[in-house]
Amino acid sequence: MNKTALVAQFQKVFGRAPEIVTRAPGRIEFIGNHTDYNGGTVLGASIDRGVAVAVARRTDGKRNFHSSYAGKTVSLPAAGAPMKQSGEAFWTNYPLGVLAALPHFGLSVIEGFDYLADSDLPAGAGLSSSAAIELASALAFLGATGQAPDRETVVKIGKHAENHFVGVPCGILDQGVSGFGKAGHLVFIDCAGPRFATVPMPAGASFWIFNTHTKHALVDGLYAARHRECMAAAQALDVKLLVDVSVEELRLAEAGVEPVAYKRARHVVEEIERVEGTVQALKAGDIAKVGSLLTASHRSSQSLFENSTAELDFLVDTLVSSSGVYGARLTGGGFGGAVMALAGAGFGTVQAEAVAAAYAAKFGARPDILPMNTGDGAAVL
Ligand code: ADP
Ligand code: MG
Repeated sequence: MNKTALVAQFQKVFGRAPEIVTRAPGRIEFIGNHTDYNGGTVLGASIDRGVAVAVARRTDGKRNFHSSYAGKTVSLPAAGAPMKQSGEAFWTNYPLGVLAALPHFGLSVIEGFDYLADSDLPAGAGLSSSAAIELASALAFLGATGQAPDRETVVKIGKHAENHFVGVPCGILDQGVSGFGKAGHLVFIDCAGPRFATVPMPAGASFWIFNTHTKHALVDGLYAARHRECMAAAQALDVKLLVDVSVEELRLAEAGVEPVAYKRARHVVEEIERVEGTVQALKAGDIAKVGSLLTASHRSSQSLFENSTAELDFLVDTLVSSSGVYGARLTGGGFGGAVMALAGAGFGTVQAEAVAAAYAAKFGARPDILPMNTGDGAAVL
């Protein structure tokens, strides 16, 4: 997905050239499972797939939205506050949410325009195509009106759109990684700040995503239950958020915490320590250690946080016994979804196919295999 192709597509749809072309990547949750709403830290990878957006202003009061994702152009009036869309036009809520967010950050809103989105990132696969389209849209609308707020503001605009307009209560990971990503690096986020930094990835490692397309029927309720259990543990420990408890303090306080809440808290508190350990191991270039921390994160999901499934466990078990794999874990909220493996040169398509075949033999369906590398963060092209 390059600029020339997007310009040509824009020309075909709208009969003229765009004024600005932007692109923002999807992301992988590398390590830091359910740490965000507990005020903790997380490491994410911006990937080499994303959403590109092209925009040109119009003066006739119309906003035309087109995406290869939906196929049909949606035409809306520029006047008045953006209205939430449904049905076939639902996807326009992402750019509309960005427009609705801009005034909250003291920024002015572009009036009429033609808008085109194109993507090489599967939507709804847990790779955060939503954050990618938000950030690419934000940079396009801002660029077309000559505004250039700092990167953190762009990230917050995307999150605001998703939280308040689309209505998904995501944390800062998705937009933070898409905004601050850098090829060859991971993005470290301290969710309490938020504070963002990049950490170099050792050379020669790549990511493999195995998407099971499974989803627990009660996933929203389970997610809410974990949130509640973490907050109950924090209350029992007399802190606002679990980030304020060390592994040692938690261990000493075990008797005073209800057993299920204690398990959830132990996962979160130890996971925050694993994130720190991963940063240190990355800095030391110790990829084997990074891999073992990834797998330890999965084991903790399995036994303590109980947000894994038989499908995800099978993939992790099969992957960690394959040659060339440093480590593997569920990525994202859990209760279904995808597994990520960090692998070296010894793991390739042949090995990945063998993992998928073993999975298919057991569960009767093939997971998608998505090999990917790190890629740059959101930018004007
Ligand atoms: P994820 O972020 O994991 O991909 P979400 O459900 O949060 O899944 O976001 C997916 C939604 O984002 C899609 O249903 C669609 O509305 C929107 N979207 C993603 N990519 C595009 C695109 N290229 N064009 C239009 N809409 C898109
Ligand atoms: Mg999303």
